[in-house]
Amino acid sequence: MLEPTETELLNPDAAGMERAVAIWRKGGLVAFPTETVYGLGADACIGAAVARIYQAKGRPSFNPLIVHVADLDTARHYADFSPQAEALARTFWPGPLSLVLPVNKDGGLSDLVTAGLDTVALRIPANALARDLLRAFGGAIAAPSANPSGRISPTRAAHVAEGLGGRIDAIIDGGNCTVGLESTILAPDHTPPALLRPGGLPVEAIEAALGQHLARSEDPETPVSPGQMTSHYAPTARVVLNVATRPQAALWLGFGPDCGGADLNLSPTGDMVEAAANLFGHLHRLDQLAEQRGISEIHVAPIPARGLGLAINDRLKRAAAARPSGGAART
Ligand code: AMP
Ligand code: MG
Repeated sequence: MLEPTETELLNPDAAGMERAVAIWRKGGLVAFPTETVYGLGADACIGAAVARIYQAKGRPSFNPLIVHVADLDTARHYADFSPQAEALARTFWPGPLSLVLPVNKDGGLSDLVTAGLDTVALRIPANALARDLLRAFGGAIAAPSANPSGRISPTRAAHVAEGLGGRIDAIIDGGNCTVGLESTILAPDHTPPALLRPGGLPVEAIEAALGQHLARSEDPETPVSPGQMTSHYAPTARVVLNVATRPQAALWLGFGPDCGGADLNLSPTGDMVEAAANLFGHLHRLDQLAEQRGISEIHVAPIPARGLGLAINDRLKRAAAARPSGGAART
């Protein structure tokens, strides 16, 4: 259940920015304008803060989120840039282009931001207020559109207040968004570079800069299966759901206070935000442990299907449906 919150309306001045940054530092949620749409921002290195994004939006599944930074040096802290990625960043940032790059494991991003993948989508927004906020914050802000799941993206502070008022800590009002379309998402290190989502930066501009055509999913010559680039994380071990007692020959991922003897517990107190923040990290660790000990299954305790439990169960069901044979499970 979400705590009822009084959503603060902040002005785009020094005091408003200072307040927004202070809320981010405490793991809170602040909606802010970018040139594309208003984003619902949280510190991308705090798992519980990222979990609250899903909670506030009521998103029924964990998809990787786009990470926003102030400048290229900061971006390099979180991801590895190939020469081609670097050239695209220099040409199109700040702007509505998100680059999907290998994540830097030492950068400290929460694995809820990347949904357990080893890539991260990064961009520098072109909105001056967004960049000033990001510069003052200094780190990485995860931000999907600031609307309840299933509703249209907000291009004004008033839209955000209508949809998420009372569910987030603050909204900083920076007027209307100029692009109004979401960012174009590109995987520059794919051969050829692959368009994952069309958006505010025209494909032709990217193709002109690269001097080559992009692979697109609708293009029969160079098919990019969505599964190829946005593949969902699934453990190699077989995942079995709704196991309420300690299994004999499998690892056990617990939830709540009744899971004594669990190898790991998503949240011993049954806190959904904590469970969501731990989900991918715990699955990764149990998968490693299973390999080390020659165990082929991970059993998972029942998780209530309420609030963030919906998204947790959605992701666990996908992991359970994946084939249990080695790398082939990762589709
Ligand atoms: P949103 O933040 O809701 O506007 O959407 C983010 C989009 O970026 C989703 O469609 C994701 O699938 C996509 N995305 C984010 N990170 C990655 C990644 N690491 N690999 C592929 N796609 C990504
Ligand atoms: Mg959206």
